[in-house]
Amino acid sequence: GINPNRALDVASGARTIYDVPSPLRHSLFIDGQWTAGSGGTDDVVNPFDGSVVETVGQAGSDDVARAVAAARTAFDAGPWRGTPAPERGALLRRIADLLVRDKESIARTETLDTGKTITESRIDVDDVTAVFRYYADLADKEPGRVVDVGKAHVLSRVVHEPVGVCVLITPWNYPLLQLSWKLAPALAAGNTCVIKPSEVTPLTSVLLVRLCEEAGVPPGVVNIVLGNGRDVGAPLTEHPAVDMVSFTGGLATGQAIIRASAATVKRVAVELGGKNPNIVFADTPLDLAADWALTAVFLHAGQVCSAGARLIVEESVHDELVAEIGRRAELIRLGGGLVEGTESGPLVSAAQRDKIEAFVADALADGARLVAGGRRPDEPELKDGFFYRPTVLADVTRDMRVIREETFGPILTVESFRTEDEAIALGNDTEYGLAGAVWTTDMARAHRVAGALRHGTVWINDYHPYVPAAEWGGMKSSGNGRELGPTGLAEYQEHKHVWHNTAPEPAGWFRGGQA
Ligand code: NAD
Repeated sequence: GINPNRALDVASGARTIYDVPSPLRHSLFIDGQWTAGSGGTDDVVNPFDGSVVETVGQAGSDDVARAVAAARTAFDAGPWRGTPAPERGALLRRIADLLVRDKESIARTETLDTGKTITESRIDVDDVTAVFRYYADLADKEPGRVVDVGKAHVLSRVVHEPVGVCVLITPWNYPLLQLSWKLAPALAAGNTCVIKPSEVTPLTSVLLVRLCEEAGVPPGVVNIVLGNGRDVGAPLTEHPAVDMVSFTGGLATGQAIIRASAATVKRVAVELGGKNPNIVFADTPLDLAADWALTAVFLHAGQVCSAGARLIVEESVHDELVAEIGRRAELIRLGGGLVEGTESGPLVSAAQRDKIEAFVADALADGARLVAGGRRPDEPELKDGFFYRPTVLADVTRDMRVIREETFGPILTVESFRTEDEAIALGNDTEYGLAGAVWTTDMARAHRVAGALRHGTVWINDYHPYVPAAEWGGMKSSGNGRELGPTGLAEYQEHKHVWHNTAPEPAGWFRGGQA
């Protein structure tokens, strides 16, 4: 179980990460009870140095069954469904307040778990708080609508009801943030949930469930089970008592979940990967373009679904921009996420670094030119962590794996174009369609390109910003749903049509037996 008093002696200077009140002995929460789980334990590793941050309990198949049963009963028979929407909103607001209170300890935990810098983790907690506030406000603002059917004696309305038991499965790159995009709207809509966080980074999800409990979420409404995809994730997606699965993660897993859902015809929302173009026209100030090219791709060591991993540059400025980006990439300061001045942390795991090293090796073997990085850092104090230097590859071709597949790491590839049409074609030449950006001082062109890009988010002269009120999601193989915004709430609602004939008369269709 997670021990709040555990003193950690990591080089990053953290002493106590769980400076939240009262011990948390067990890491699974089922039907309002914390439990250790019957599936053994798993070590959560600090990617900064490979040390164990915490040992957490794992769900056995009986825990999975109990969690679904608890959510089912809480939905079918519990008081939750009848809770007035303003009260659900108030509850979400209390969770937001508790997030503010615990911001620092949650942010530190996220950093120890994922390796990202504490600055990024603090931003994550702020963003998560904003998402809870946004859906708190929306909870009673989307009650449905009245439909004019053209008959004065008919009252027709579309009512919004919860879907039921929702399984929420999340990845390791933004553990808390991705969970909030699901949990806040699911609760606002009146659903009950079983959360399955990534086995790589489960800690802050457990802390968030603690806050749900403290805020007064009724037993069975929010449950969390820990474990891997095969033993815990897959059975949840196949379970007949589950109404909906909301998943964020990799493409292959998303495809498996869609297949698994077919047998019981669940609602499925998947948010998958990206291979995101960052298109720079020659009229962009070089300094700005270089600065944002780095920010677009190297935040969180490139482990961002919307990372601007494909820089697509107008030919006339290509060489100069590549040289400048390469120079700056070599200066990026790697280190512990809690250390002041660190600009980027490690990759989340050894496996992830192996994957990145293979991508770079393949690209170089196929003729790509290494402009920066392409190696582990030299600093001895980073040798036990899963670090990899920010890497820039030029002279890449369309058939290379590094161009076609999501690397999910600190690799920037650079391609060039001559015309606007070429830039758009390159930007869209991917099976993914999550996000992208266009940089130019020509606003007509900016909006033409934004309109032509088949990606769910397009930034003009910016990269990364999002707000809870605007939808997020992918086209093509990047996903089939939308999170955030009003659509992100609708994902968790049934829209039921209720037709009330206030003055019924005989239909008069079938009078076979009558004269
Ligand atoms: P992953 O697909 O390996 O795992 C995601 C989650 O699914 C984990 O909790 C895992 O345990 C679980 N899982 C694995 N197999 C399962 C199965 N058969 N059934 C049910 N659950 C299963 O992804 P990851 O490596 O944790 O995350 C990285 C991926 O997430 C990247 O592809 C990234 O682009 C994507 N991502 C997308 C978005 C977005 O908004 N579109 C956001 C963040 C991350």
